Amino acid sequence: MKKVIIVGAGISGMAAGIVLQRSGFETEIYEKNPVPGGELTGWKRDGVYIDNCIDYLMCSKKGSDMNGFWHDIGMLKDGLKMYSKDVFFTYKGHGGEITFRRDKERTKSDMLKLSPDDKEAIDKFFENVTRAESMIMPLSKPMDKMGLRDFMKLGDFAKNVPAAQKAYKGVSVKDLSDSFKSPVLKSAVLMTHPEQTQAYSFIMSYAMCTSGSGDIPEGGSLAAATRIADRYKELGGKIHVNAPVKNVKINGKIAEGIVLEDGTEVKADYVICATDANHTFTHLLPSEYMPKKLKKCFDDHEHFSVFSKFHAAFLVDCKTSIPADTSFWESEGIKVWDKVHKDIGMICYDYDPTITPEGKTILQMKLFQYADDVDKWFELAKDREAYEAKKNEIASDMIKLIEKQYPETEGKIHVLDTWTPVSYAKKCNAYRGAYMAFVADKDTKTVTTPGVVKQLKNVFLAGQWLMGSGGLPPATAQGKYAAWRICKKEGVECK
Ligand SMILES: Cc1cc2nc3c(=O)[nH]c(=O)nc-3n(C[C@H](O)[C@H](O)[C@H](O)COP(=O)(O)OP(=O)(O)OC[C@H]3O[C@@H](n4cnc5c(N)ncnc54)[C@H](O)[C@@H]3O)c2cc1C
Repeated sequence: MKKVIIVGAGISGMAAGIVLQRSGFETEIYEKNPVPGGELTGWKRDGVYIDNCIDYLMCSKKGSDMNGFWHDIGMLKDGLKMYSKDVFFTYKGHGGEITFRRDKERTKSDMLKLSPDDKEAIDKFFENVTRAESMIMPLSKPMDKMGLRDFMKLGDFAKNVPAAQKAYKGVSVKDLSDSFKSPVLKSAVLMTHPEQTQAYSFIMSYAMCTSGSGDIPEGGSLAAATRIADRYKELGGKIHVNAPVKNVKINGKIAEGIVLEDGTEVKADYVICATDANHTFTHLLPSEYMPKKLKKCFDDHEHFSVFSKFHAAFLVDCKTSIPADTSFWESEGIKVWDKVHKDIGMICYDYDPTITPEGKTILQMKLFQYADDVDKWFELAKDREAYEAKKNEIASDMIKLIEKQYPETEGKIHVLDTWTPVSYAKKCNAYRGAYMAFVADKDTKTVTTPGVVKQLKNVFLAGQWLMGSGGLPPATAQGKYAAWRICKKEGVECK
C-alpha cells in the first residue's frame, strides 16, 4: 500500500485524506495546530462558542456533486439540522433599507419600490443572478484535466455562468455600486465584498443564496471540522496534531517524505502540501518551484490583492431585536488606522440555539482590512500591550455603535474576543493574514492553478489558494483533485 503524507489538516488536506483512504492508500496528516480544521474553526471564550468560518455554506442544497461530496466527507450528514439562510443580508442607511433575500422576486420588487429609476440596473442584476445560479463546482477530475466533453456535461453551467461573467466583464463591485442611482442600493452592494473585486463575485454569492444554498449546519464551523476529521479517522487515517512540518525532504526529482520542526523525518511515497501557498513555497518547498500561474498572482499586486478582517465577538446579557442574520447599517463610524468605517456589519448567531446560551445573544462584528491596514497590524503586534490596547479600543467603539442602534443592549454587552490579520498568520501561516485567496480585480481573470509541482514527480498541491478567491468549496475540490492525481498515477479508481 502506497503511503501519502498530507501537510495541513484544513478542509482541503482532510478532503484529500478521505478520498485517498477510500481509494486504498495509507495516509497521515501532519497539522501544526492542536485541533484540525484550519480556517474552518471556532473556539470558546468564557465558556461561550465563537464561530469563525461558515457565514454561508455553498452547495448546502441537495442535488449537486459538491453537496454529495459534503456528505462524503462529513461536512453534512443526513438528519443534521440546517439553519436556513433566507436572508443574504440587510442594509439600513441613507434613509432606507434593503434586504437581499433568497426570494428573488420579493427582493427585486423591494428594490424597484425603493428606486424605480434604477429599473434597468436592477433588471440586469437579477437576469445575471438567475444565470449565476447555475454555478457548480466540478469534482470528477481536476479542471486542467477536463476536456470539451467534460465541460459539455456541465450543462447549464457552461452556458449561463460565462454569460453572467460576460455581462459584468470589466466591472468591479464599486462600479456595480455606482451603476445604481439609489444611495441605499449603492451602499448595500459594497457591504460583503472588497470594492475592487469583480462584480460577478457579488452576483455569484447572492445567487448561491437565491438558488437555495448557503444554509448553515448546526453547531457551526468547529462541529463541521470535527465531523470531517472523524470521518477521516474512521477510514483509518491518522492526524498528528501539534506537529508543524519544517520542509519536504527532496532528493532530485523525488520527495522522500517530510521533516518535522522537531527534526523527525517521516518517509512517504507521495506528499500533498495542503497549506497556504505562500507558506508552501517559502518553507516547505524551494521558492523557485512555485507554479508560474501562482507566482503571477503573488507578484501582480495591481491585479491580485488579498484582504483580511478585524473581528470582535460579543456576548449580550439579554435577547435583543437584532435579526438573527447578517445586517449592516450606516453609522457615525469607527476609525481604524486612517479610515473611518461608516457602514458597519454584524452577525447575530441567534439562529443556532445549540451555540447561543439561553437568554443571551452572541454577536460578531467584522471590518475589512486591506494591504496598508494589515501592515500596521503586523507592526503593532510587535508590542503586545499596544496591540491588545488597540483591539480593545476598537471593540469598545463597536459596543457604543451597537448600543446606539439597539438601545436594549445598553450596559449588557461584553467583549468575548478580538482578532486580527495577525491571528490568521500565527494560527494557519496565512499569507498577510488573508483567510481567503486572491481577489482578482475587474481588469483580469481569476486564476486556477493546477496543483502540480513541475520539478517533483510525487508532490502535489491542495488548498484554497489554487482556485480563484478561495472559500470552502474550492479548498475542498482542490483536496479531491490532489487525491485524483495520485490515484491516476497509481492507476487506481479515485473513490
Ligand atoms: C472568518 C471567516 C469566514 C469565512 N467564511 C466562509 C464562508 O462563509 N464560506 C466559505 O466557503 N468559506 C469561508 N471562509 C473561508 C474558508 O474557511 C477557507 O477557504 C478554507 O477553510 C481554507 O481551507 P484550506 O484547507 O485551503 O486552508 P487552511 O484552512 O488554511 O488549512 C491549512 C492547514 O495547514 C496547517 N499548516 C500550515 N502550515 C503548516 C505546517 N508547516 N505544518 C503543519 N501544518 C501546517 C494550518 O494550521 C491549517 O490547519 C471563511 C474563513 C474565515 C476565517
